[in-house]
Amino acid sequence: MELITLKSPREQECMRRAGRIAAQARALAGQMVRPGVTTLEIDKAVRGFIEGQGAIPSFLNYGGFTGSACISVNQVVIHGVPSQKIVLQEGDIVSVDVGACIDGFHGDCAATYPCGGISPEAQRLIEVTQQSFWEGIKLAKAGQRVSDVSHGVQAYVEGHGYSVVRDFVGHGIGARLHEAPEVPNFGSAGHGARFQSGMTIAVEPMVCAGDWHVRVLKDGWTTVTVDGSLAAHYENTLLITDGEPEILTVTEDGAYV
Ligand code: MG
Repeated sequence: MELITLKSPREQECMRRAGRIAAQARALAGQMVRPGVTTLEIDKAVRGFIEGQGAIPSFLNYGGFTGSACISVNQVVIHGVPSQKIVLQEGDIVSVDVGACIDGFHGDCAATYPCGGISPEAQRLIEVTQQSFWEGIKLAKAGQRVSDVSHGVQAYVEGHGYSVVRDFVGHGIGARLHEAPEVPNFGSAGHGARFQSGMTIAVEPMVCAGDWHVRVLKDGWTTVTVDGSLAAHYENTLLITDGEPEILTVTEDGAYV
């Protein structure tokens, strides 16, 4: 089994820098979400920003991915491939997932943004998805177990009538974008690895308005809800401590979206 890495103070500082750049890129992408914009335009801006900071977009060329951000619209849950053919429309919800690597360490974060005016149902889905992250990480501290977070996310989401994706999960993160342990968004509490101070993980609820089953389209990336229901995503990279976790994907202004 793959070992979980603990980050030294110097490595934690690198993770803070990577997290800040990823969070700034997320915020930039979110500000660009409006009717008439293509997902490729947003992707190009994200890439320009990250490279301008002296960092590398973590997702670019990852497993052959062609974008610097995953941009996933409406029933697309994750891994939407930026394209000039995808033009955002009033009422869409747009999930942006972005990673940045600097000094050999990664930050990874995501959020779902409204395009113009959206339905109250879509707004509620976005809010419940974000809050499920904060509910889950209440138990992300040294001594707790990974599935305590998983259970916290699932309980909050299902308590609001939505479902959590099973096929994709959060993850450890550091010198590699995806490290041990896996951090599912479902499961009973009290299982999995025990958190230790110095671990860094990406917690990322993927929430469906309807059923949780998803499928991947022929492009090998774009992941949609089978029932066509809306989906939302929220993710931050965090550092485990003996107390509250430190959110690493935060902008200079202290923003988490
Ligand atoms: Mg991630």
